[in-house]
Amino acid sequence: MSFVSLGLIDPLVRTLDALGYQTPTPVQAQAIPAVLAGRDVMAAAQTGTGKTAGFALPILQRLTMEGQAAPNTVRALVLVPTRELAEQVHQSFLAYGAGLPLRTHVAYGGVSINPQMMKLRKGLDLLVATPGRLLDLYRQNAVKFDQLQTLVLDEADRMLDLGFSRELDAVFAALPARRQTLLFSATFSDEIRAMAGKLLRDPLSIEV
Ligand code: AMP
Repeated sequence: MSFVSLGLIDPLVRTLDALGYQTPTPVQAQAIPAVLAGRDVMAAAQTGTGKTAGFALPILQRLTMEGQAAPNTVRALVLVPTRELAEQVHQSFLAYGAGLPLRTHVAYGGVSINPQMMKLRKGLDLLVATPGRLLDLYRQNAVKFDQLQTLVLDEADRMLDLGFSRELDAVFAALPARRQTLLFSATFSDEIRAMAGKLLRDPLSIEV
């Protein structure tokens, strides 16, 4: 199995070559074709399985092939529980998307909101954010979701453990109904299953 056979375009495959990624991991082999096809995905995957590239690569490809962000909109949104993970996931998008003409940014609390608002003004192809800061940005009209194509919940169980469920519900209520949703979680409690049932449509279930 190769990244080419999963349907990834040349620029991404070349970048992966340069990074020394030769073979897709199991979660990548299942997630990449499904995400490229526009399907919803629910994946039970721990850190270390290659899950980040599993969603980042197909999202980068879809963003590259289709359209541009209007002012203050985001086309793809990745929600994560902590600022450390936000930085790490954004770095992965930057590494995999090297050379692609995409506007990406990362936003979390505990730092000034103004640079984040400035960055959003022209619109972003991709935003990685923690739920609390994203909600602040939304309430200050710095971000609109009417162009949102894809939502990713990364480490969904940790977001609930950290008490983000109210912020998440407020964000979900503001999102367009027609969108792609990907949910990644290390564990699947009743609460996560209920959230998945509410957010996902006919998802592909992946367990690795
Ligand atoms: P993650 O589970 O997303 O945190 O990724 C775990 C680590 O595996 C990261 O350091 C990635 O750079 C690396 N990685 C992801 N996919 C591959 C792959 N297909 N081949 C080699 N390394 C990979």
